[in-house]
This record gives sequence, C-alpha cells and structure tokens, in this order.
Amino acid sequence: MELPFAESWKIKMVEPIRKSTREEREQWLKEAHYNVFQLKADQVYIDCITDSGTGAMSDRQWAAVMMGDESYAGARSFFTLRDTITRITGFEFVVPTHQGRAAENVLFSHLVKAGDIVPGNSHFDTTKGHIESRKATALDCTVDEAKDTQLEVPFKGNVDVKKLEKALEEHADKIPFIIVTITNNTAGGQPVSMQNLRDVRRVADKYGKRVVFDSARFAENAYFIKTREEGYADRTIKEITLEMFALADAMTMSAKKDGIVNMGGFIATRWEDWYEGAKRFVIPFEGYLTYGGMNGRDMEALAVGLDENTEFDNLHTRIHQVQFLASLLDEYGIPYQRPAGGHAIFIDAGKILTNVPKEEFPAQTLTVELYREAGIRGCEIGYILADRDPVTRENRFGGLDLLRLAIPRRVYTDNHMRVIAVALKNVFDRRNEITRGVKIVWESELMRHFTVKLAPAAE
Ligand SMILES: *Cc1c(COP(=O)(O)O)cnc(C)c1O
Repeated sequence: MELPFAESWKIKMVEPIRKSTREEREQWLKEAHYNVFQLKADQVYIDCITDSGTGAMSDRQWAAVMMGDESYAGARSFFTLRDTITRITGFEFVVPTHQGRAAENVLFSHLVKAGDIVPGNSHFDTTKGHIESRKATALDCTVDEAKDTQLEVPFKGNVDVKKLEKALEEHADKIPFIIVTITNNTAGGQPVSMQNLRDVRRVADKYGKRVVFDSARFAENAYFIKTREEGYADRTIKEITLEMFALADAMTMSAKKDGIVNMGGFIATRWEDWYEGAKRFVIPFEGYLTYGGMNGRDMEALAVGLDENTEFDNLHTRIHQVQFLASLLDEYGIPYQRPAGGHAIFIDAGKILTNVPKEEFPAQTLTVELYREAGIRGCEIGYILADRDPVTRENRFGGLDLLRLAIPRRVYTDNHMRVIAVALKNVFDRRNEITRGVKIVWESELMRHFTVKLAPAAE
C-alpha cells in the first residue's frame, strides 16, 4: 500500500486559538460594522484574511534571528541575504526594503513618470497604486481565460502575448518596462508558465524593453511549472527558479509571502544603472543601502526562508493543503476559481448568493456569513474592493465578486481545512434563504475595503 501524504515538518511550538459563540460573533460583527478588517484577531478562530506575513518561521529561521548583525552600515546579515538572493535568482544587485510595496515605491520612483504605460498580467493593487499615483497607466494584458472561474486551464495567470504586443506596437515610447506578477495574485493565485515568460521576453527584446517580475510567490509559481508544464517534472525548484529569473531584468519582492518572514522585501536586478537609480530613492524612503527598512535579524531569517521555500517538499506540503481544501469544496459542490491557486481559494460568491443583488455585495455578504457561522475570517475580493469609478463615482460591478480564503504558510492543519469547508457548506446549504446583503454606511475615497462601514441592507 502506498503511504499517504503528510506534512514535511513537525511542530515545535504552538499558539492557542479560541472558538466563540454565535451570540458573541453577532455582537462583534455589529461593532466591526460588518467589515472583517475591523475585527480584533482574538475574535477570529481561523484567520484566512491573508497569507502575507502570517506564515510560521522554522526553527532554523528562529536560530538565524540570533545571528542578526544590527550594524547600521555593512552588516554581515545584509551580505548573507544578498548572497542568498544572488544564488537563488541570479541577480547581482540587491536593495532591501521593509516590504513589497516599498520595493515598488523605490524602483518605480526611478522608472515611472507621468504619461507612462506599464503593461503586464494583472497588477497587484499596491503595484497599480504606485503606477497610478505617478499619473501613469497599469495596462492589464492577462489572458481572457482568467475571467471564467469554472474554466480549468493550467496557467490561468499568463500574459496574453497578443495584447502585450499590441500595447508595444502602439505605445513603445511610453513603456518603461513590462511587469509580470508570479503567481498572478489578482487572478486567483494562478501561475504563469515558463513558455509564457519566454514569450514575454521575446516581445520585450523585440522592442528593447526590460522585464520586471513582481515575485511575491515566485516559489509557488516554480512549483506549478514543475508539476504542470511539460519538461520540468525532473527539474528542482531551484533550477526552475533560476531559469525563470534568467528571463527577467529585475524583481520586486514581498518577502512576507514566499520568503516566509513576517515583514520584509527587496529589489534585485542584473543592471547596475537600475541599481544606481534605486539607490537614490532607498536612502530617503527606506534606509541605508545595507538594511533598507529591515533589521539584521530579519535579513538573516529571510535568507533561510528563501532557501527553505525553494525546496519541493516545503512547497508541496503547502500547495497540497490548498488543494485539499479545494477537494472538500468539490465534494460539497461549492464553486471557486478553478483550478485551486497556490496561496488561496477564491469562492465565486456571485454563483452562490444568487438572491442577493450585486448592489448589496454578495461576496462581502458571504464573508460576513462565514464569520457568523464559525468565526472564520476570509476577505472580499469583489465589488467593495473594486472601489468606485474615479470619474462617474459609480460602484464598479464589472469584475469578479469573490470571497478569498488565503492560507497562511505552515500555520493550520488539514483539520482546520475541514472546519473551513464544513462551515462554508453550512452557509452554502442555506444560500437560498439569504436574500439580503449589506449596504455602505460610510466609505473612504480610495482602498475603501479596509475601513468601510456597512450595515445589513434590510435594516
Ligand atoms: C503582497 C503583494 C505585494 C505588496 O507587498 P507588501 O509586502 O504587502 O507590501 C505586491 N505584489 C504582490 C503580487 C503581492 O502579493
């Protein structure tokens, strides 16, 4: 008999979590204005609001923390981190930053100016923010398949090369670089194939443009290339990672994801001119060149985390867990963005709460219902997150309306996945009785989802 799957680690330290009663949650929801960002974490039983900075560090990472060199300039920990990044990505120049958006802020300050166009697959919201705040345009060239949640294709995060080529034909002089997000977070944690990265490189070379990878989940992307793309089954994750980055000129990194640290980020590049440009901005925005917003101990932990998370077993354990949750949802017939992504499951709320009008935010309603049911916190990636159209000030109902369940790395067990799935099933089973959603009572102009105040629409 073949041995069953099990995690590639054992547990050395635990953190208690607490269940609550439905009455308590009802009260807490009211106090939080039906916005789960406003809940206290102690009011949450299983927290799937994000996989960013929520992972569990290993014993080796914690041991490395003790080796941190906190020297202001020239810290040993910086060189440890730089050498690790160079070994894993091939990029020679490294600029640490306090998180991913800071890496974007520093690099884009050098590269992006008003009137520019930055094409790529779906831009992450902070990436888009750092482009748009410079009065430039983030042009989404993702493949159309990504919009159909029920379509089962292996690399739904890909760039549509035809759309990219068209953008370059029409606006080459306004395009400072191409950006490819691996994995494509916004499209549901969907991977980008090596072939697609090669195709993007070919187009970039034709027009003499450089390519940046937004690399928050590059290791998960490498895992999907190994397990889904022809010719990569026998290659190691580290070999695949090097091959991916050989097709780019630079990367921005949120280390809070595939670096498995709680805070951190960096820019890495093969080009000295980009490094010189970034140096001018990292010092005023982040800090001196050899720490850029990170502690020495955090740089040590990140170096270890990058090494651990570019090993197959660690990634297989993680992605197996996400796929296990997906398999339970399949059993219950609950629709989600298919196939399951690397870091999260995106539940298609519009297909479940069909009696809730879109003006009453079905995905947010489902998020609230799941918390009410079992104290599980997901996150709406839908019509509230989409904000209003900047010109007409109308809500934007054009995109997908999803409930994201992001799975923290090495934190929960498969039993927690079972609880999540059954809680969702219980809500799913009474979906037809849910006819009213939520209404907005107060909202901010930009990124309203963090602070929006809501109330039951029926009140
Ligand atoms: C999280 C994320 C970022 C921003 O990183 P922070 O560390 O949260 O600032 C950028 N791009 C992608 C794809 C991300 O997932």
